[in-house]
Amino acid sequence: MNEMTTVSYQQHAYSEGAKTLLARKPALFINGEWVASSHGETIAVEDPSSGQVVSHIADASVADTDRAVAAARAAFDDGRWSGLAPIARERIMLRLADLIEAHGDELAELEAIDVGKPKSMAGVVDIPGAVSHIRYMAGWAAKLGGETLQPYTMPNSGMFSYTIKEPVGVCAQIVPWNFPLLMACLKIAPALAAGCTIILKPAEQTSLTALRLADLIAEAGIPAGVVNVLTGYGHISGDRLVKHPDVDKVAFTGSTEIGKLINKNATDTLKHVTLELGGKSPVVVMPDVNVAETAPGAAGAIFFNSGQVCVAGSRLFVHKSIFDEVIEGIAATAPFWAPRPSLDPAAHMGPLVSKEQYDKVLGYIEAGKRDGASVAMGGDAPSADGYYVNPTVLVNVNPQMSVVREEIFGPVVVAQRFEDLDEVAKAANDTCFGLAAGIWTKDLGAMHKLASKIKAGTVWGNCHAMIDVALPFGGYKESGIGREQGRAGIEAYLESKSVIIKL
Ligand code: ADP
Repeated sequence: MNEMTTVSYQQHAYSEGAKTLLARKPALFINGEWVASSHGETIAVEDPSSGQVVSHIADASVADTDRAVAAARAAFDDGRWSGLAPIARERIMLRLADLIEAHGDELAELEAIDVGKPKSMAGVVDIPGAVSHIRYMAGWAAKLGGETLQPYTMPNSGMFSYTIKEPVGVCAQIVPWNFPLLMACLKIAPALAAGCTIILKPAEQTSLTALRLADLIAEAGIPAGVVNVLTGYGHISGDRLVKHPDVDKVAFTGSTEIGKLINKNATDTLKHVTLELGGKSPVVVMPDVNVAETAPGAAGAIFFNSGQVCVAGSRLFVHKSIFDEVIEGIAATAPFWAPRPSLDPAAHMGPLVSKEQYDKVLGYIEAGKRDGASVAMGGDAPSADGYYVNPTVLVNVNPQMSVVREEIFGPVVVAQRFEDLDEVAKAANDTCFGLAAGIWTKDLGAMHKLASKIKAGTVWGNCHAMIDVALPFGGYKESGIGREQGRAGIEAYLESKSVIIKL
């Protein structure tokens, strides 16, 4: 499919600034200081565009994790952050947002090197997204408060009752590798606005921007111990955070499999848990659409970020009257989405994040072919040192196939035909996931009917993955527990206390 495009898979040169950051000594950010891990172990950082090891990060041990929790606990208990005037928290957060914005180019390059996503994409999606999460949540810091309430069973006079909102406490925030800085900021923003303290654990594959974020957190004036950044493995430091008795809340974004494990592990200490997990989001294309607009939209819904997106539109349902036309329209986007090295200015899609993901995604494509699916686009990987997979459309699939049922987390979409609205709503809901859905139609009745019938936390009409911090985000079914963003997002970091006083 790439015969019309000549792509070089050679990664472009790093800037001098990036080279300096990659040469940093591996360290953990605990209590406002950079410290080595207790056992001196490190984790290699790979550039997925080249498959080369380009840096090392510290591997936090259980002892390091305990140290970070103790720092966050002390910082919470002495009120050095929650005790500040809300206006002060707000201003410091806005300063952090400004610093991230000012370092946008450098952060976008780090993200490109670490994740494999095009730098240009990180510059217009990840970095502004991270900034907007902090700015929006900074505004909540000064707008939180309880209510004065009239008790139902007690006389009005002689009683005074009210609620107070308080921060939940020490928060472990565990984030994935697909949008590292964006996810880190999405997590820390509401916690900071609420007055919580934090141990942030980035994914072991992609920790570079979280480390840079720690520098900016210190520069912004967030007091020591309020945000601690622990690089390390999920099953070691992540696991310890989830089980640690001094952690009050765990916020996790990642796979459904690990989310279920975290939910179980957090039970013994009854932590607050919010989980944002996997998806197999349907994209429904009704017969009335303009195919010239919709086909590229459906392609973007799956190929953006190499399909490594929890809301990726990975199950495409097209009305049978326009099925072939839409599939041809998607296949025609192949040159645009042809994977390229992340620092190639022409790149719209990079490699997958790691060899592990590459093997997993190609394994699914092979399983799909074995099960009888046909390839309408891609279906293979170019020969290169990095982890490139060509954008892929599979047709002639059925609901029993693993490619239809399971989250692939790669640039692979399965396309099916449908005849009527009720049938497609049922098919769209035939999944254990319920994160998001896309509906493409000009028929307002069909749009609203489908938006109501589809069981998903977010539904998009005539667009996809338009995530905005003002709107709550989260999953139905096995796509998660709780909501992030918007008012619900800040409330997830607050306790409510009722005070009833007999005067
Ligand atoms: P993926 O499958 O997409 O690689 P994961 O769900 O495994 O994503 O990982 C997401 C985040 O969860 C990462 O920061 C990872 O280190 C962390 N993690 C993995 N396993 C555990 C665990 N057992 N406990 C806590 N955190 C974990």
